[in-house]
Amino acid sequence: MNTVALAFDLGGTELRGALVERSGDVIVRVSAPTLAGAGSEAVIGQIITLADKLLKQHPQAKVVGIGMCAPGPLDPKAGIVIGPPTLAGWHNVPLIDILSRQFGLPVRLENDANAAALGEWRFGAGRGTGSLVFVTVSTGIGGGVVADGHIYHGRRGLAAEIGHMTITGEGDRCFCGAVGCFEAVASGTALGRCQPRRLAPGDGSLLRRLAKDGDISARHVVEAARTGDATARQLVEAEARWLGIGFTNLLHLYSPDLIVMGGGLANGFDLLAPGIRATVEERAMPAYRDVPIVPAELGDRAGLVGAASLILWEGEPGTALAMVQNDETRSGAGGQDEPALAPRA
Ligand SMILES: [Zn+2]
Repeated sequence: MNTVALAFDLGGTELRGALVERSGDVIVRVSAPTLAGAGSEAVIGQIITLADKLLKQHPQAKVVGIGMCAPGPLDPKAGIVIGPPTLAGWHNVPLIDILSRQFGLPVRLENDANAAALGEWRFGAGRGTGSLVFVTVSTGIGGGVVADGHIYHGRRGLAAEIGHMTITGEGDRCFCGAVGCFEAVASGTALGRCQPRRLAPGDGSLLRRLAKDGDISARHVVEAARTGDATARQLVEAEARWLGIGFTNLLHLYSPDLIVMGGGLANGFDLLAPGIRATVEERAMPAYRDVPIVPAELGDRAGLVGAASLILWEGEPGTALAMVQNDETRSGAGGQDEPALAPRA
């Protein structure tokens, strides 16, 4: 078997693990609902359990390290998860230290949006570009910037908090406390929330029917717009306009070769694209208007393969990291008699 990385994508609702090859191919993946309210020790226990599962399925795997992504804020260089709002009891957790001691393997950490940006850049929609901005639009808005062949980190790795750039002076308050954040007006959550203001439960509208008179989500809006529902189409148009405004800012700030849009709302990319494009044409300075805006290709595995690439790749796309495989540190990691990935006493 080829050299692989153990990859983990720690989210507030789901913890995913995989064995990933240098080509970006996922050999096997597993997942578990994250024990998000149980504190860091419980979740690290889950990571260890999943690693064990993966390696039991592929005992011959030559694991050279662990690539991990987690919600920000986190410090990728120091390897510290600072305090994600979606995970209770995580305050300055030295995750790299903990995992490298546990497994006896090199560990790299990146925030989830940056890891997904890396995934799309190295294996997905952004292959072959030098610079890209990846924007994920789902319950929130996040992103990552690859600038001149590298993830742009900024101070403490906190750069590219795309969802919290201010794009209007009014509207609902964002969870961060500010008004007019990109995320507060253009996330999937915001799109679903627009609708109840226009419709009453039981009014028989297509959107209400799709949502079975429950909460209307962005998915329902996209579905209804696809069938030609006029209200839903208007909402999608407004959504595309907000995205176009945000993307115009990103073009001016980072001058990428490409903008890649991922997240749940990318399912409606074909409906959103004309409005996004029209807004960019209208608002961006001429030199930026021809930059392609494309949907992500890797779906929910972008973070996993991006995290794996932190271990398997270094530098420019196509260059394999010359990581020497250390048979001593690996003797248990995948060995059949001694499960080195079991928790240390
Ligand atoms: Zn905000």
